[in-house]
Amino acid sequence: MAFTRATGKHRAPSRLTRGSAKIAGAAALATTGVIGGMASPALAADSSISETGLNQVIAIEGALADQIDAQADAQKHQADVAAKAKAEAQRKAEAKKRAEAKKMAEAKAKAEAKRAAEARAEKARAARSAERTRLGSFQLPVAGSYVTTGYKSSGSLWSSGSHSGIDFHAASGSSVVAVGAGTVVEAGWGGAYGNNIVLRMTDGTYTQYGHLSSIGVSVGQSVGAGQQIGLSGSTGNSTGPHLHFEARTTPSYGSDMDPVAYLRAHGVNV
Ligand SMILES: [Zn+2]
Repeated sequence: MAFTRATGKHRAPSRLTRGSAKIAGAAALATTGVIGGMASPALAADSSISETGLNQVIAIEGALADQIDAQADAQKHQADVAAKAKAEAQRKAEAKKRAEAKKMAEAKAKAEAKRAAEARAEKARAARSAERTRLGSFQLPVAGSYVTTGYKSSGSLWSSGSHSGIDFHAASGSSVVAVGAGTVVEAGWGGAYGNNIVLRMTDGTYTQYGHLSSIGVSVGQSVGAGQQIGLSGSTGNSTGPHLHFEARTTPSYGSDMDPVAYLRAHGVNV
């Protein structure tokens, strides 16, 4: 019985070993399951575990890592490409913005130049208009005055026996102006006319201003309509301050024409 017991006793460890092995196997299986589930590189690197498909796990993980690396590289490359594309797009956008700004500045400068040219043209038009007015508009030789002695009036005062011009009322020192634009052809003492001025008008006719107290222009000078040429007075053969005015076809005495008709023909209300 002792042998049986002994044998039984002896066999017991064997059973125990098998049992332990079973337990160890289960543990290993459990561990493998854990390792597989966790996919932990730290546990995968443990060389003491070399059974139950762990190598396969490591191999798969290695391939996966390579794949991830490749993916990361590809992603990095894509990111680089994207960054370059973005930078390029930004550069293009800025270039476009600059080009647009330049275009706008050019358009603005062009518009400015156009406005300036128009302003110059308008100014030139105004100047031409003023010049036409200056040349065209005749006026009274003494502003606001009136005729006191008419043309061809008879009297002992005039050498010809009749008045070769008209007399305008003018207190001594009144401003005497050119009735229209012209050039001074005579400025000085004129005998019976006293201090006198003769102008050659732009239309080729002549006007004369006599008995002046002072002369303000000299021969050869250009004058505009309404420009003061002297002051009225009573110099020469005169009975009192007034302006003697003549219209002539030549600069000389004796070529007189009707001064009232002449002024009226030039638009003067006299
Ligand atoms: Zn007179």
